[in-house]
Amino acid sequence: MEQHDHTDFLKELTDPKQLYENAPCGYLSFTADGKIVMINQTLLSWLGYTKEVVEGQLSYKDLISRGGKIYYEMFYMPLLRLQPHVNEINFDFVRADGTVFPALINSSVFYDQHKKLVAVNATVYNITDRKRYEYELLAAKKQADAERSQFELLSDFIPELIFTANEQGEISYVNKRFNSFFGLNAGSFNKVDVVAKVHPQDRFKLIKNWMFAVQGKSDFQIEVRLQNLNGDFQWHLIRALPVFAADGTVERWMGSCTDINQHVKAIQHLDEFITVASHELKTPITSLNASLQLMERFVNEDENPRLFKFMAQAKRSSDKVKSLVDDLLHTGSLQSGQIALQKKIFSVNDWLSYTCSHVKMDRHFKLEVNCDEELFIDGDEHRIDQVLVNFVNNAMKYAADSKTILIKAESIGEKVKVSVSDQGAGIPTDKLPYLFDRYYRADYEGGSATGLGLGLYICAEIIRRHKGEIGVSSEVGQGSSFWFTLPIATG
Ligand code: ADP
Repeated sequence: MEQHDHTDFLKELTDPKQLYENAPCGYLSFTADGKIVMINQTLLSWLGYTKEVVEGQLSYKDLISRGGKIYYEMFYMPLLRLQPHVNEINFDFVRADGTVFPALINSSVFYDQHKKLVAVNATVYNITDRKRYEYELLAAKKQADAERSQFELLSDFIPELIFTANEQGEISYVNKRFNSFFGLNAGSFNKVDVVAKVHPQDRFKLIKNWMFAVQGKSDFQIEVRLQNLNGDFQWHLIRALPVFAADGTVERWMGSCTDINQHVKAIQHLDEFITVASHELKTPITSLNASLQLMERFVNEDENPRLFKFMAQAKRSSDKVKSLVDDLLHTGSLQSGQIALQKKIFSVNDWLSYTCSHVKMDRHFKLEVNCDEELFIDGDEHRIDQVLVNFVNNAMKYAADSKTILIKAESIGEKVKVSVSDQGAGIPTDKLPYLFDRYYRADYEGGSATGLGLGLYICAEIIRRHKGEIGVSSEVGQGSSFWFTLPIATG
């Protein structure tokens, strides 16, 4: 029984009549004058007609749009008279209800012995979906073009030099301002021309950092000198961000070059002034300090308590001025790379046992030192201590409510990590990236202590010169933890 059903089914499936009627495309046969003699069920269902209405009654022209009728007369039929096969002709078919669907027609022709056209067999492919897809594609392209020209208009309007680059970091677009700044021909961006306009001292750094950012798909930022069309070098801040596709690959890079020449020049003047001023101040302050130290010896607290108190106050103030002037002097020397490091291998435990004695004596703060391991660092102990003291002094200054200041040293892989944690007010997240910048002071609610904004900058320079890393983690209301890492040395 089962066998019988199966055979029936196969028979039905391979029945040529069935295949013709229900094929996934329309079939149509018409005579030389266009009269339809045969049409399959598929095409009838697309058109909304029955066989009786069409076969022997309607002609091909009755099924197509008005524009199609002209095309039929002028091109389609003349072509069929010339060649036996005509493929991929586009007609709009009109349904019984007047609506239209687009179709692609492939036609084969029957000629009589005089080569006269007798009949045509045509297959009809409904391309509504394809058309819609093409239309959507076109609309998307139009929108992308409009967005692009809007972007170009905007980028030509602003004073920045704007560029985009492909995934490999190769520049693909520059705005008008970009070309006019360098005096390059519009429309013909040449990498070699532009790289030649970067100051020779900045060129290697720029290329290296750019390649690094492209490989790591990370934000790019650098300050370099770019040569304008007059031949003058001007400082620019170049920034670029990767634009990611949904699958996480980089679609392109968007970049800008901002003129920061005036800003850099102003900082340079400020640096020059600070270097000169701090040098001028250094000598009188050193002698003032020496004199105060001498005077201190002649004043006895029991004999002259008021004078003793004033002396101590004067000494504290002069120490403070000395440390401020030292900071200013350090900045200048660090900037010009003048500070030579006196490196030697030293024990972290020994160092931590003597550091920050001024805090250990302070009754307000409890200094906790935590180092369970025998660790060694190869570096300038005095400078590294300066970093730690700065962290601790900042904790006392900016986390005055913090009872305990914790110094912790631990090994993490090949590195020693030293951190100073407080339970102060913490620092807002948006301020964190700038804390180690020169002259930066996080001005936020609750921060009332004064300073020059140089301490952490000096710390960062010292650690950088030791090839270490420096950073901070902080949570508002919880406290801050400033840290640095240095390579472990073998003692
Ligand atoms: P200065 O102390 O002269 O302002 P620093 O470079 O030492 O300069 O510090 C920069 C800024 O970092 C400070 O102005 C302060 O706002 C913030 N800061 C540093 N340490 C802490 C800390 N432990 N808690 C909260 N804020 C801190």
